[in-house]
Amino acid sequence: MTAQDIQGISALLATPKKIAIIPHRSPDGDAMGSTLGMYHFLLNMGHSPVVIAPNEFPGFLAWLPASEKVLIFEKDKKNVEKVLQESELIFVMDFNALHRTGEMENVLNKLDAPFIMIDHHQKPDTFAKYTYSNTAFGSTCEMLYNFISLLGKKDLIDKTIATCIYTGIVTDSGSFRFPSTTSATHRIVADLIDLGIENGHIHSDLFDNNSYQSLQLLGKALQNLRVLPNGKASYITLSQKELDSYNYVKGDTEGIVNYGLSIKGVIFTAIFIEHNDENIIKISLRSKGDFDVNQFARDHFSGGGHINAAGGKSTLSMEETVKKFEDIVNRIKNI
Ligand code: 5GP
Ligand code: MN
Repeated sequence: MTAQDIQGISALLATPKKIAIIPHRSPDGDAMGSTLGMYHFLLNMGHSPVVIAPNEFPGFLAWLPASEKVLIFEKDKKNVEKVLQESELIFVMDFNALHRTGEMENVLNKLDAPFIMIDHHQKPDTFAKYTYSNTAFGSTCEMLYNFISLLGKKDLIDKTIATCIYTGIVTDSGSFRFPSTTSATHRIVADLIDLGIENGHIHSDLFDNNSYQSLQLLGKALQNLRVLPNGKASYITLSQKELDSYNYVKGDTEGIVNYGLSIKGVIFTAIFIEHNDENIIKISLRSKGDFDVNQFARDHFSGGGHINAAGGKSTLSMEETVKKFEDIVNRIKNI
């Protein structure tokens, strides 16, 4: 963001406005933390903000302050469309291409209001009037903290906003273990703790809320884990039938993909999850070091993301999808 961008954004925010704040479809901790953090910040500034999620967010985020006020596009299309049309400014957080909102893209494409993008994924589209995009950041929430600082409004960050920002930082950094975690990240977290966040409680709310069934599902996923003959790549499958037999609810498969990467020597892993309602296999990809899963997802599975964490989808059957994955991996020299 240039000094001119900051001036432009400050001018837009100088008078009270109706503002929509949008995370990507199937929002995660960073998407919900950054949109709700922005919501409370804009409220503190005197605006009338509303967070609009393309679809439902997972239950492990339902404790986030004001999450009960979030509108869900796919549950309430007519009303949400109206709210969007009345919005004078739109923030998009934690994504950089409108198709990441699913069907909501069609509505967003027709809006005249200016967009502001805050995001840390690669290759941003150019639909926003102001784009704050930087892949060096581990989370959009860390960028939100900087965004507020750049606007000279750091004094408006209260415990509520700090709680939202911490949520995105801790979830997108794998509890501070991914390499994108910097000294600056820790300095920001130190500030958030000084603002009174209860970091231990937040961690518990996020990670100690497994149901018995979701742990059984994890057990099934671990049984399904396969390592490719070269010992460097692995994958997990979960069929719709398996999900159903453990009464899967949204969020239950969160984080399971990382187990594939915790095997010694493995640098690339995938999880394939069958979604019969959408007729797709949803794919999450993770890597260590230089192996670029963002490129892999773009090249082979209509997706994208970051170098070490990306996602995509397949319309083939589970069997065919896994075969395609194995064939591609077998052809790649550095794996
Ligand atoms: P996850 O595997 O946790 O769903 O996603 C990992 C990362 O890849 C996240 O940053 C997410 O935003 C991104 N991602 C997941 N699915 C897709 C997709 O279908 N398209 C793109 N462009 N990015 C994705
Ligand atoms: Mn993120």
